[in-house]
Amino acid sequence: MTQDAKASPAKPAETTTSLKDRGNLFEIAMRQIEKAAKLVKLDRDVWEILQQPKNEILVNFPVRMDDGKIQLFKGYRVQHNNIMGPYKGGMRYHPEANLDEMKALAAWMTYKSALHEIPFGGGKGGIKFDPTKHSKSELERITRRFTHALGTNIGPSWDIPAPDVGSNEQTMVWMMDTYANVVGSSERHMVSGVVTGKSVTAGGSYGRREATGAGVMHCIVQWAKDNNFNLDGCHVIIQGFGNVGSFAARLLAQKGAVIVGVGDHGGYIANPEGINPHKLSEHVSKAGTVATYKGAAKITRDEFFALDCAIFVPAALELELGVKEAKALKAQLVVEGANGPTYPEAEDILLEKGVSVIPDILCNSGGVIVSYYEWLQNKRSERWDHADVLERLETRMTRTYHDVSQYATKHKCDWRTASYAMGLERIERCYKERGIFP
Ligand code: NAD
Repeated sequence: MTQDAKASPAKPAETTTSLKDRGNLFEIAMRQIEKAAKLVKLDRDVWEILQQPKNEILVNFPVRMDDGKIQLFKGYRVQHNNIMGPYKGGMRYHPEANLDEMKALAAWMTYKSALHEIPFGGGKGGIKFDPTKHSKSELERITRRFTHALGTNIGPSWDIPAPDVGSNEQTMVWMMDTYANVVGSSERHMVSGVVTGKSVTAGGSYGRREATGAGVMHCIVQWAKDNNFNLDGCHVIIQGFGNVGSFAARLLAQKGAVIVGVGDHGGYIANPEGINPHKLSEHVSKAGTVATYKGAAKITRDEFFALDCAIFVPAALELELGVKEAKALKAQLVVEGANGPTYPEAEDILLEKGVSVIPDILCNSGGVIVSYYEWLQNKRSERWDHADVLERLETRMTRTYHDVSQYATKHKCDWRTASYAMGLERIERCYKERGIFP
């Protein structure tokens, strides 16, 4: 099927700005990281290395569409840093995917892995196209051809993709299968760790599906304990109801939280009595958007950001929380399920208002943590129990949460700066011990 032949499942939200109008994401990311680099007085040479990715791979590849015509696609893989381990990061399928976005997302992965002491580096990639406009067979051919075009630029000991916006378990299984077929039959069962976020049947880990949402929930539970805050009955709003947002919603509801507002690319809805996240998930799996859900009223994006709530979880795309949204927001706590959802100027406003911000590289790391567990299971040909995976995840999230909390108190800085600073210090130590080749 061609792109023209299909209708998108939902209309775009009316007020969101196009990503290309939102400023250069990589520059914004570098501004955030530079603040931490100054705090830790990072070695000049290490900073020089970290300011650009090691590799920026661009591939243009042809795919035959269902109507027999050829369409050309642009794919990316940015490999930011691998001093601590193989490059690691998601594959985004989105019409506005671009190199600067990939560079920012790849850099964030480097610091996220370092913060959580996961032996991975940082990478990110994807394809510039709208996956909702393609049939399943087209998506399969696009993914397989992209994987083939990347060739040995990915690999279980080199660069390990995972799902991100617009891609999912099925995408990862196609990638793994394509890679395994290309490496040759004697090695095909040794390379399942080339990607993570696979279905459990095809070598994925129990618990990976809900991992990022679970990590968000664990941070909120810890914050509530530290601040004597009762989660039971507290109002939560969530932007983005895909993998991260929908699992965060369901897990927070189990803790007694009431989801009063949700938004996605199709629009925004609210119900002060609460929105059942399980029913909403069922609706989204059929309708493709929250906007047409009957159990809540349609509202505008501006109304969504002004809803009465205690907690806001951005779980859509980057740079959704600007100055206007920060001023309108009534939440006491912002928990960044998405990568880079907050403009630095908006964060300043939130912090001035006394709002706590749990930054992305701390709270949305459940995905990469369980991806690491999946990779370990693949390497060792093991299968860990669901409960075992979730327990390990909780332990690691909770430990890092408290480490960041203590670091921020000790150095009198915000949590984002503390999180980057901890990651930077580890990377700096590693560079100092290993040195630079030759
Ligand atoms: P997803 O594709 O499953 O869901 C994305 C959600 O965002 C959808 O509900 C979509 O409708 C919504 N959205 C898209 N454009 C929007 C817009 N303009 N306005 C409002 N909503 C919009 O993606 P995901 O995997 O849930 O990822 C969401 C975010 O979390 C991304 O920033 C991603 O990088 C980050 N993240 C994901 C994982 C993971 O394990 N999936 C891990 C860490 C971070």
